[in-house]
Amino acid sequence: MARDKAGSNRRATCRECGKHRREVGQISRSGYCADCGYARLLEVHAQMHLKRGEYWERFQRGLALRSERHWRKRAAELKGDG
Ligand SMILES: [Zn+2]
Repeated sequence: MARDKAGSNRRATCRECGKHRREVGQISRSGYCADCGYARLLEVHAQMHLKRGEYWERFQRGLALRSERHWRKRAAELKGDG
């Protein structure tokens, strides 16, 4: 719950292990130190293969939302074309 005072995406601590960048080096834009970022990447990768898990579901929801928006826009365009 420790939010960066700057309010930007430049975090001082890793959101996974909570270590300060003084200890672990740079924190990525998504808020993870190199170790946690890599571990997360592997986890995401594994879930994409298994087609299940938290990241996979999030990914699927993201896709569904995107395509829904896409098709709504497309339908509007088609209607506009007459
Ligand atoms: Zn970390």
